[in-house]
Amino acid sequence: MSFNPANKIQDLQNFGEYGGVNPSISDSSTYTFMSAKTMFDTFEGNTDGCYLYSRHTSPTNLHLSSALAAMEGTETANVAASGMGAITPVILQLCGAGDHIVSSRTIYGGTYAFLKNFAPRFNVSTSFVDITKLDIVEAAITEQTKVLYCETVSNPLLEVADLKGISDLAKKYNLKLVVDNTFSPLAITPIKFGADVVIHSLTKFINGSSDTVGGVVCGTEEFINSLKDVNDGASMLLGSTMDSLRASSILKNMRTLHIRMKQHSHNAMYLAQKFESDGLKTVYPGLSSHPSHEIYKSMMNAAFGFGGMLTIDVGSLTKANELMELMQHKNIGYLAVSLGFYKTLFSAPGSSTSSEIPEEEQAQMGLSDGLIRFSIGLDDDIERTYSMIRECMQALHILSPKSTLEETI
Ligand code: PLP
Repeated sequence: MSFNPANKIQDLQNFGEYGGVNPSISDSSTYTFMSAKTMFDTFEGNTDGCYLYSRHTSPTNLHLSSALAAMEGTETANVAASGMGAITPVILQLCGAGDHIVSSRTIYGGTYAFLKNFAPRFNVSTSFVDITKLDIVEAAITEQTKVLYCETVSNPLLEVADLKGISDLAKKYNLKLVVDNTFSPLAITPIKFGADVVIHSLTKFINGSSDTVGGVVCGTEEFINSLKDVNDGASMLLGSTMDSLRASSILKNMRTLHIRMKQHSHNAMYLAQKFESDGLKTVYPGLSSHPSHEIYKSMMNAAFGFGGMLTIDVGSLTKANELMELMQHKNIGYLAVSLGFYKTLFSAPGSSTSSEIPEEEQAQMGLSDGLIRFSIGLDDDIERTYSMIRECMQALHILSPKSTLEETI
């Protein structure tokens, strides 16, 4: 039987303290001890099942963390107040002054900005490379390199990382492979291919209701404990802690993630095929025209598909903006930067989520002005959605009324 991370979530039993079918929400920032010695031992990290202070850990955050660890197949996990609140402590825990990172050049703009502009303040430098070229990745590794960093499916260009190939390099040079799996929860399990640390922005598909930000780091007990160490743990000391109320609501949403991911993937595949046959430049890992389609297929937990993200290029930023405004006006979706919502969300990454990346670098990596990134929603009737999008494209002369490739063949 193939690995199904949804079963791992299903199999968890989290009862509330009065037998509630949902775990009780812990409503305390601090915890009492029956003896002073136990408090001291807890500080030293020598007690199991004792809570000290909610910036360190709370019962509700542990419930959510264990569901995420089960989903990703890691020993444990630690939730954070946002995706960036998960990413930045991981980098700072693994790297100190003088260290070096080799990162994919197409990553979320905030992560790029952190590595490019902020980490150098700590004398941590980063080489940004084309992660799909293993020889280029290897050539960028130096004596100082500590971390290989990538997104399984990258934001916004949807490049797919060959996790097995990259993790072989990490092992060869004794580096840690850190993978942001935000775009492909359930569909790809990076730990199976040798990732050391798996991160998510929970803000996106996992929570799925665009009502909160959140993040998680999944990894070994040893690494997660080091992040939470009261003396030198980056998560503990930088303090990006998730609130228990939010941990509880995210845990409840997570239980429907498998159903939602199937629908996101189904709808995105339908639209990607239609857009491509209309002659639009379309990028979606599920299309055989995607350069890493086979690699994605070799890694995927098949039931969950190729994910909910796709891009099209409509030629110019002006056209992209006009199309997005019209689609919002017709209530096809929202002009918004995030992703993983029940409604379709669209944005032009060059001028929004990736605007931290300088224009000339955007051009080098293929991030063109006319690119629109879609996070496809849970629409029940995706054929109707397609017709509506097509009408908008025709109204703006992005598609001429009868001249799609499909109809001219
Ligand atoms: N990783 C990816 C792939 C993202 O798309 C984002 C946000 O867009 C983040 C991380 C950062 O997450 P958050 O906004 O929750 O801090």
